[in-house]
Amino acid sequence: MLKGCGRTENARADGLPADQGEADAAQPAYRLLEREGKLAERVDQAYAMLEKCELCPRRCGVNRRKGELGFCRAPGKAKIASHSPHYGEERALVGRGGSGTIFFSNCNLRCVFCQNWPIAHEGRGREIDDGALANLMLDLQRRGCHNINVVTPTHVLPNILGAVRIAHARGLRLPICYNTGGYELPEVVKLLDGVVDIYLPDLKFMDGEEADRYIVRGAKDYPDMAQKSIAEMHRQVGDLVVDKRGVALRGVMVRHLVMPNHVAGTREFVAWIAKNLTGKTYVNIMSQYRVEHQAFEHERIARAITSEEFVQAIDWALAAGLTNIDDRAMARYRMHKRRV
Ligand code: SF4
Repeated sequence: MLKGCGRTENARADGLPADQGEADAAQPAYRLLEREGKLAERVDQAYAMLEKCELCPRRCGVNRRKGELGFCRAPGKAKIASHSPHYGEERALVGRGGSGTIFFSNCNLRCVFCQNWPIAHEGRGREIDDGALANLMLDLQRRGCHNINVVTPTHVLPNILGAVRIAHARGLRLPICYNTGGYELPEVVKLLDGVVDIYLPDLKFMDGEEADRYIVRGAKDYPDMAQKSIAEMHRQVGDLVVDKRGVALRGVMVRHLVMPNHVAGTREFVAWIAKNLTGKTYVNIMSQYRVEHQAFEHERIARAITSEEFVQAIDWALAAGLTNIDDRAMARYRMHKRRV
């Protein structure tokens, strides 16, 4: 049974558990934007982009409102695979009540080693309108989650904005966590300024040739687009801020998956963070690379990482002056360090 799931005791009129009161007194960014009358404008701007879709660096130019499909094969409506409190995310997102994840189907990136293949590559899921998506957000709030964690959101950004506005009118008070693979256009990320409180981007590759090799149909510009977009995210919300319980209120949390044979460019990743963001930036340097799907066809990534590779990755991060590394990553580091 999921801990905290279905928790309704001491619920407030807006559906928030009483012990969330203090953290939520911080107020999510979109409340102010709506009060200023600017949220509706953002929804319109984003929806206009669906008519000649340039929501991401693929710039397919298709009219998704008329049913045309681009690289991501996403329809005009949001398609979702699941929604539930999630306890496997970073501790600052999970707290006691869980992170309120909504997994969107389809993906604008599509890595050959994807761990969510049926959802991301095959697009399995069900289409819903913005009102129904808003209700899922409210359901996660009622179930005691600390945030609304939109997973693989890039290609459904207009739908998310539309749903946030509806959900806010119906009582949503949780911060939005934008959980992206990082293949974003910085100018589109600007549309999220004042809507998203927590950014959770991946920075998967630091070298365009590697990105081109291990992303379906290639994405040589991935490092450039991801870096510029993460810099914009950091400009908007800064370093991670948590409440006294350690639950995230706002800020950037960057994920990086260590890959075999230095494919992900971890040394360059930590150097980039230290130079372009701050040494206090929260980074999750992850060890759980698995050989999935088409990864078996690529010799350099057809194995797990070694203890030495993971220890080396964290050593580089420490040497670069990064001081806010995910605590579970540090625990794994200490464990692996004893072995090498
Ligand atoms: S969101 Fe999809 S359709 Fe739009 S540009 Fe990106 S890949 Fe193409």
